[in-house]
Amino acid sequence: MACIFCRIVAGEIPAEVVLREPDVVAFLDIQPLADGHVVVVPRAHVALLEELEPAAAEALFRAVVRLARPVREALGAAGTTIGVNNGEATGQTIPHVHVHIVPRREGDGAGSVHTIFPRGARRPLGEVGEAIRRAAGGLT
Ligand code: 5GP
Ligand code: ZN
Repeated sequence: MACIFCRIVAGEIPAEVVLREPDVVAFLDIQPLADGHVVVVPRAHVALLEELEPAAAEALFRAVVRLARPVREALGAAGTTIGVNNGEATGQTIPHVHVHIVPRREGDGAGSVHTIFPRGARRPLGEVGEAIRRAAGGLT
């Protein structure tokens, strides 16, 4: 098994595990962006968020919600930045879906998710919205 996160899930390589559930495991990131930086992973190996089975997606998001407060409180943090690098082009280095939970404090020098992206001209919202609605099969 080549995937590092699959190997952590299987207990083949050690990790500081903070949550173990039937469909989800959470552990401390080995190179934390802040103390308490947790990654939450589905046990099932899929690379992208949109490849998750609905039940796995539910279990993953429930675990993220369940951990958000304890991670923040355990570290005495003011908030958490929660994010997913979804695909190699986004900087995802391990192709096994994972949600980062990173405790934040005032003045920690990190920005919001908006700071990832450069400012620039964008296409009209109506045109983009229509394209997405069409790709998603319309509004329900
Ligand atoms: P990505 O860049 O794919 O969103 O995040 C992958 C994360 O996995 C990185 O933050 C990296 O530090 C973490 N990571 C990589 N290898 C290991 C490992 O062997 N153990 C743990 N606990 N985290 C790892
Ligand atoms: Zn995997």
